[in-house]
Amino acid sequence: MLRDEDRIFTNLYGFEDFRLEAARRRGDWDNTQDILALGRDRIIELVKESGLRGRGGAGFSTGMKWSFMPKKSDGGPVYLVVNADEGEPGTCKDRDILRHDPHKLVEGCLIAGFAIGATACYIYIRGEFYDEGSHVQQAIDEAYAAGLIGRNACGSGYDFDIYLHRGAGAYICGEETALIESLEGKKGQPRNKPPFPAMAGLYARPTTVNNVETIAVVPTILRRGATWFAGLGRPKNSGTKVFCISGHVNRPCNVEEEMGIPLRELVEKHAGGVRGGWDNLLAIIPGGSSVPMLPRETCDTVLMDFDSLREVRSGLGTAAVIVMDRSTDVVKAIARLSKFYMHESCGQCTPCREGTGWMWRVMERMVKGQARIEEIDMLLDVSKEIEGHTICALGDAAAWPIQGLIRNFRPEMERRILEYRTRAERGTRAAAE
Ligand code: SF4
Repeated sequence: MLRDEDRIFTNLYGFEDFRLEAARRRGDWDNTQDILALGRDRIIELVKESGLRGRGGAGFSTGMKWSFMPKKSDGGPVYLVVNADEGEPGTCKDRDILRHDPHKLVEGCLIAGFAIGATACYIYIRGEFYDEGSHVQQAIDEAYAAGLIGRNACGSGYDFDIYLHRGAGAYICGEETALIESLEGKKGQPRNKPPFPAMAGLYARPTTVNNVETIAVVPTILRRGATWFAGLGRPKNSGTKVFCISGHVNRPCNVEEEMGIPLRELVEKHAGGVRGGWDNLLAIIPGGSSVPMLPRETCDTVLMDFDSLREVRSGLGTAAVIVMDRSTDVVKAIARLSKFYMHESCGQCTPCREGTGWMWRVMERMVKGQARIEEIDMLLDVSKEIEGHTICALGDAAAWPIQGLIRNFRPEMERRILEYRTRAERGTRAAAE
């Protein structure tokens, strides 16, 4: 279990005051100039050494991503974009960082922006995060007033502006290229890649898009040392992570823990355990709605990090742990997620636009048992036709929960269909007699 002194986001635990003075007392903005003095290459090297992997879901090496940015300036603008469009079902970790620790994010933007050679930063925040946006804007204003950002930021000779941009309620704008399109004032639809944003991103200029948590942990990593961060968790899965635990637990919460903590320990120590005890557990979705669920037996032993969860055919995703006890209608729960993905599909590519609606309609019949047994395999086939055949990952995100359901709960799906058929036959016989 993570020691209190190793927590990065201590303000999530009740200090509440998010403004500059209190943030400074917690160590933010402490000798930031010295960090910048390390130079671009050294900062990127240290972030690589820390093992930090993107906290938005994909888990790509942050230092590696930064190193894709052009080394030399051509005189044009270069951008850092922070993805604060948190909308994954079950996920509310960035919301807490934005609400309680906006200075960690603003300072992280300055350091990351400096490392990639950015001239400006846009924080794209989910429109519904009204108060959180106000806190971030207040932190930006305070940082400008104190000379921490803007012209000659922190006295480093580096000029750096930060702008807050509010989104308008589309889940797909959490996808980095759809977010860029939206920032440019267009409809939020993902772009084909390549070119990747590091080559041609915002306004066709080199751009790095990073998640809120990824950027907000950077100042602490550089202050406490890459070795400290790399020493937490497991090899290639290092550091701390904010987990969001919801569903059928006694105390739903957000908690920062060490990567690689056993799932059972996470739920029992921080969320008061499963309602009715661990034996009452049916399944857990370990990383937001876009990853396959885990059956009870796997939940007993699995570790919460990128690689361990991949080994059991799921994923860490956004680290939103959705707990379902035995009272859950698991087929209905996944059908509801299917409806979400159908609704949020941007409609640009056929497998996703047509497939998400098709899967939802079949899932609705599965809930009632009105499907045929053969349709379970057909549903699986269709989900595989969508997976990997779309412009962005929303297609995969729609397919994987259904694949997880079929893999783990096929007997439950078959039981409903057989029960419905028996009831229908009885009804027909009764009508005939
Ligand atoms: Fe749009 Fe879906 Fe295609 Fe993504 S996969 S681009 S959301 S239609």
